[in-house]
Amino acid sequence: MKYYDKLIFELSKPGRTGYSLPETEQQLPKGIVWRETAPALPEVSEVDVVRHYTNLSQMNFGVDTGFYPLGSCTMKYNPKVNEEIAAMPAFTGLHPLQPASTVKGALEVLAGMDKALAAITGMKHFTFLPCAGAHGELTGLMLMREYHMSRGDLARTKVIVPDSAHGTNPASAAVCGLDIVVVKSKADGLVDVEALKALLGPDVAGIMLTNPNTLGLFERDIKEIAELVHGCGGLLYYDGANMNPLLGVVRPGDMGFDIMHLNLHKTFSTPHGGGGPGSGPVGVSDKVVPFLHIPHVSGFHGNFGVILRAYAYILMLGREHIKLAGKLATLGANYIKESLKDCYKLPIPTVCKHEFVFDGLLEDNGVSTLDVAKRLLDYGFHAPTIYFPLLFHQAIMIEPTETESLETLDAFIAVMRKIAEEAKSDPEMLHAAPHNTPIGRPDETTAARQPVLKYD
Ligand SMILES: *Cc1c(COP(=O)(O)O)cnc(C)c1O
Repeated sequence: MKYYDKLIFELSKPGRTGYSLPETEQQLPKGIVWRETAPALPEVSEVDVVRHYTNLSQMNFGVDTGFYPLGSCTMKYNPKVNEEIAAMPAFTGLHPLQPASTVKGALEVLAGMDKALAAITGMKHFTFLPCAGAHGELTGLMLMREYHMSRGDLARTKVIVPDSAHGTNPASAAVCGLDIVVVKSKADGLVDVEALKALLGPDVAGIMLTNPNTLGLFERDIKEIAELVHGCGGLLYYDGANMNPLLGVVRPGDMGFDIMHLNLHKTFSTPHGGGGPGSGPVGVSDKVVPFLHIPHVSGFHGNFGVILRAYAYILMLGREHIKLAGKLATLGANYIKESLKDCYKLPIPTVCKHEFVFDGLLEDNGVSTLDVAKRLLDYGFHAPTIYFPLLFHQAIMIEPTETESLETLDAFIAVMRKIAEEAKSDPEMLHAAPHNTPIGRPDETTAARQPVLKYD
């Protein structure tokens, strides 16, 4: 154990302090009495405090400390200039109840963002109220319901969701009081159009899709799907949480989608994870605009700081450079996929977009996807998304992003190959991984629900 792995209480020495204040004559105000015993705080010097917090910050893994190939979640590096802009006092000091005439700059940011996102997605307008992707999905589905109700079309209670969908899609539909109907994927990972046809009818409110889907594959039949769903009177909802591969290349509006959300905290530069902060703006096509809450641009606009970071990010990249993000992310994903497919099972061997899925090791010797993920931590890489999507039992879903250099991708590939070798030579060691992290394999559910956070 390293000296500074000790608890700060174990470093404590009576009387040691990290500050010095001048003697004062001041008395306590009347009615306030000194406590009888001093609080049981550790007594340490300033440098011990600094090391304590710095060491704590390094016990966790973040995109600022290493490569983070988390599929479906677009864990990209977030340029620090966006943090600086979001931290400007002129923005952080705003209050949502301020008169509109005093917050014109902020309104301009929102209006500019509305325009930028409309240009990127092909939607007509956006609302910035939703604070996360799932929140955006619920908002979007409520807009879908409003649209049908306004036409007296009350029988439309079903939402079609592919079996590869992100879990929040059916969950949001259920929260919205809609019935979920699952449409199968074919062996090539794309929606089965024939199966979809059989589900369409006057009771269908719409379909929720993401394209590229959660396997990182582009739904090539999207035009036909849009015609079929519109033809039966339904709407198309686009889950744009991972818009990265499409930026400046393809627009959901042009594919025929009517309603969509974006995750600004995935695609557009905000550190995310741990439940927030997020922003899930919802965009709509012409025919849904009348149901968007009005005004689109006024007070209480969700997480303004996240919107601001995204706006800075979009303006910094500009119309031309934003196109590179998706292309480089796609190139990186295909590079990793092709470099590792002789050691890992690749169930769908076609060209992918920004992410792809392996189904465990080709020659596993009892080594599971969980073992591989844990071992990666020993080598300083965060694990990819594992056991999702549910279509494959040993899913390893890898998404590099555009900010990773070729050298980083090569280092990751080398480590993944090394782990495949270790699976042959020493599977027991892999079952026990990780070996170099502060803790090994906690029960993840208990660790999340009943964390032990106190010194005992
Ligand atoms: C992350 C994600 C969501 C949900 O977004 P949250 O902000 O976590 O609510 C929805 N769909 C897809 C495809 C995602 O990757």
